[in-house]
Amino acid sequence: MNARILLIEDNEQNRYLATFLLEEQGFVVIPAADGPVGLDLASRERFDLILLDIQLPLMDGHAVARALRANPALADVPIVAVTSYAMAGDRELAIGAGCDGYLEKPIDPETFVSDIARFLRHPRNDSEP
Ligand code: MN
Repeated sequence: MNARILLIEDNEQNRYLATFLLEEQGFVVIPAADGPVGLDLASRERFDLILLDIQLPLMDGHAVARALRANPALADVPIVAVTSYAMAGDRELAIGAGCDGYLEKPIDPETFVSDIARFLRHPRNDSEP
């Protein structure tokens, strides 16, 4: 079964690129344009990984990560923060909020999918990332 990714990202172009790259490698991508929509989806559907933009309307990514981590049912779902912030300490903030990892924007199309696949707790059996 292909890994299901919840993509919480408010920028349409970023959503398009990430979805294109992931679907190209066989991932199933479910988009959410803000934190509350993402939290609702995460509470109702099963995901193998959550990709989380940090700069979001309504709730920032750190608040979304803390809310996801407050749900014991999601304890084993990896959360990877994706942010354009280049400030020192952001990695620690994301990790402190419950994220497992951190990717910086702009994403590199050559390495994006493999960077994400490293965080999957249950890698797929085939040779795809
Ligand atoms: Mn954003």
